[in-house]
Amino acid sequence: MDYFNYKQGKLFAEDVPVDTIAKQVGTPVYIYSKATFLEHLRKVQFAYRDLDTTVCFSIKACSNINILKFLAQAGSGFDIVSGGELFRAMQAGADPAKIVYAGVGKTDREIIEAFDAGIGYFNIESEAELENLICLATQQGKIPKAALRVNPDVDPKTHTYTATGVKETKFGVDIERAEKVFDRFGKNSTVNLCAIHIHLGSAGHTVQPYVEALKKILALVDILRKKGFAIEALDAGGGYGADYITAQSPSAENYADAIIPMLKGKDLKLILEPGASIAANAAILLTRVLYCKSGGRKNFVIVDAGMNDLIRPPLYNAFHFIWPAETDEKLVPQKRDKELKISGTEIVDVVGPICENADFFAKDRALPPLKRGDLLSIFTAGAYGFTMAGNYNARGRAPEVLVDGDKFTIIRKRESYEDLITLEK
Ligand SMILES: *Cc1c(COP(=O)(O)O)cnc(C)c1O
Repeated sequence: MDYFNYKQGKLFAEDVPVDTIAKQVGTPVYIYSKATFLEHLRKVQFAYRDLDTTVCFSIKACSNINILKFLAQAGSGFDIVSGGELFRAMQAGADPAKIVYAGVGKTDREIIEAFDAGIGYFNIESEAELENLICLATQQGKIPKAALRVNPDVDPKTHTYTATGVKETKFGVDIERAEKVFDRFGKNSTVNLCAIHIHLGSAGHTVQPYVEALKKILALVDILRKKGFAIEALDAGGGYGADYITAQSPSAENYADAIIPMLKGKDLKLILEPGASIAANAAILLTRVLYCKSGGRKNFVIVDAGMNDLIRPPLYNAFHFIWPAETDEKLVPQKRDKELKISGTEIVDVVGPICENADFFAKDRALPPLKRGDLLSIFTAGAYGFTMAGNYNARGRAPEVLVDGDKFTIIRKRESYEDLITLEK
């Protein structure tokens, strides 16, 4: 579900035709829909209303401060993985009690900043980190709360780069070790280890791995409670599917229908850390066709966005639906899908201008005939899009534009040549 729709063959972001934005701001440009973000957030909040739930949007998916501001105002907490993300959250007016902090390599400085902010939970990824947290908390006279990140060894059936809850990833501690960690640290008076955290990884499209993981974790909670450890919260992480293809993923309600019965009456506060499922289809990356060329059996469409703007296709082999922003009404797709059966299309590779073979957005894709100057929309670009963007090939990062109804605002300017070198002078 999102608010990027065609009207008479023209693509709109909410009530703004995207070509208006291209004319004023140029391309490539990230275009976000505020209503889409808020609707996804509210759906999650509503789906879990029967439990004491805190939804903590995962900042690494999409971190523009203007977006974090309205999410915070709508009651969202935040999942952070660095001091920089903590800074962003605090600048956006986040409630620090609703911040959870994961990451395998927290530095002393970052930990102390999080003490000072008064965050909700440190999500602990190793015993060594916990020892350091105890040491720093003692020095600073703080009594932080912590959740142990447990690796339930469940495969979310996703790309190996995004499967973080299986054994032999660098994240968390194995479930067999979790009990031992509590035996050693569970009654520590400096760090209050009182919760369990899991995060299975990103881009799963089924509910089952969560059910499997929660079964294992709830059994662990029972054992820990019998041993006298007070467990007050369960952080079920993120990774809930987003619709890169129309209706590809379970809804927030589908997940909740499976998860809520398992947690009812367990006296556990629930924390959720959705990233992609809230942000992914809240943005498009709008780009313009520079050149079309044929090379052997291939037809290439070269656009002005590159892998420095959106790296998910080469990094994860991720699928992004792509379609012209203006098209014959007969060619408006009814569904975003890999294999669209629309007559009059041609098979092309959509590639960027960067000097790498990996610089592509789509391979062997059926698209309406394109020519120089056409605008293309790369859909579902709101999660791990701009946040993963860089300056490779000395390309300034694209601007970010937020649409709200019939208005749009530049919420991050296009980087200039000067911006590229200011820190080098
Ligand atoms: C990245 C991440 C998330 C968000 O994952 P999505 O797939 O975007 O929902 C949540 N929790 C942790 C710990 C993460 O690292």
